[in-house]
Amino acid sequence: MGADEELKACKSPPTDHGQNPLVLDDDGDLILVAGGRTFHNKAVFKVDASALRRASPVWKAMLFGPWSESKPKDGSKWLVRLPADDTDALTVVLGIIHNVYDSVPSDTITPTLMWKILVVCDKYDMTRILKPWALSWSKHVRGLNTNYEKAIFIAWELGDEAWFASRFKDLVFKSCVTAQGRLTCLSSGFMIWDFATLTHFGPDRMPGKTTSSLSPSSILEDIASIRLFLVESLLGFLNAEIDLRLSGTAQANNGQHACVLKDPACNDLLLGGIIRNTSMTLKTTIHPREATKIEISVESLQNACSAAFESLKPHANVIINCNSYMSASSTLHADCNPAKRFDSFILKKRAEALSKIENILQSDDYKGRMAKQRENIGWKSL
Ligand SMILES: [Zn+2]
Repeated sequence: MGADEELKACKSPPTDHGQNPLVLDDDGDLILVAGGRTFHNKAVFKVDASALRRASPVWKAMLFGPWSESKPKDGSKWLVRLPADDTDALTVVLGIIHNVYDSVPSDTITPTLMWKILVVCDKYDMTRILKPWALSWSKHVRGLNTNYEKAIFIAWELGDEAWFASRFKDLVFKSCVTAQGRLTCLSSGFMIWDFATLTHFGPDRMPGKTTSSLSPSSILEDIASIRLFLVESLLGFLNAEIDLRLSGTAQANNGQHACVLKDPACNDLLLGGIIRNTSMTLKTTIHPREATKIEISVESLQNACSAAFESLKPHANVIINCNSYMSASSTLHADCNPAKRFDSFILKKRAEALSKIENILQSDDYKGRMAKQRENIGWKSL
């Protein structure tokens, strides 16, 4: 929606004075003006500052410390703006801490709302208030087709190791990168890196919030680096097949011949076929050599290479006919095609990648962080 449409959709943008606040406490002493990055996301809440103080150490420091958000000494209205906070999430979170449950979803929560609520709770260090709902919400959301980047953050926040591990693997194999080298999910078009920035809050700006060396950002760096390892490996295989045949005469290269029969026709046909097919599947006229230039996912790259090699298989017959091996079996050149070797190469590299992932997921840092999150939410184990 463009800016003009937004204005139309919201003819009278609410102002601090014009919008009726959602009253969570009739005698509330604090007005929160939340959202506001777009007009219709703004909301005003009348709340009890002490409820916020009890629920969140961050709010405690913010509202009752030496900050501009503390209660005005001149008796004027106490108003605090939270422009970056999602109003749907705040409605639920503020409802919970005021014991007003009208807006708190029972179990059929959407993944997006659950994610937004966790973002707010993480920011204000108050995930534990979700204890009565977290288990049923996460059971429900796990059953839905949740975007990887939202799911991995929900799992991360709840300390759900099994769910986190499965989404971690998904992101390694299915995420793409933009031309700027940022991780992204094609399914949602969501910039995973922006998501990390969003969920990895500015700790220096947030009083009371402690930094952790293990953050969503560092996890995404791990995902990006394992993805790059796989892309480099796949590209290495592809380019080795091309280079082997570029010598033109199917000469031995590290003891390996491009053609089992050392047949120049086979060499040239497969060389042309590999370059043409992978250029088509990779949608590029220049054959890629640098892994960092590959924007598609590991899964797409693997499928592109597989499809390219598979489509060369019928040429085994053509090579035989060209060279008058009419009586020869069509399987003579079958091993010249990289397809079978590629399949076993993939299996080996996937296993290596999975073991890298396992090393991260078994590290003391990671285990400790997840255990702490489960403790926060009041879950003994999962
Ligand atoms: Zn051959």
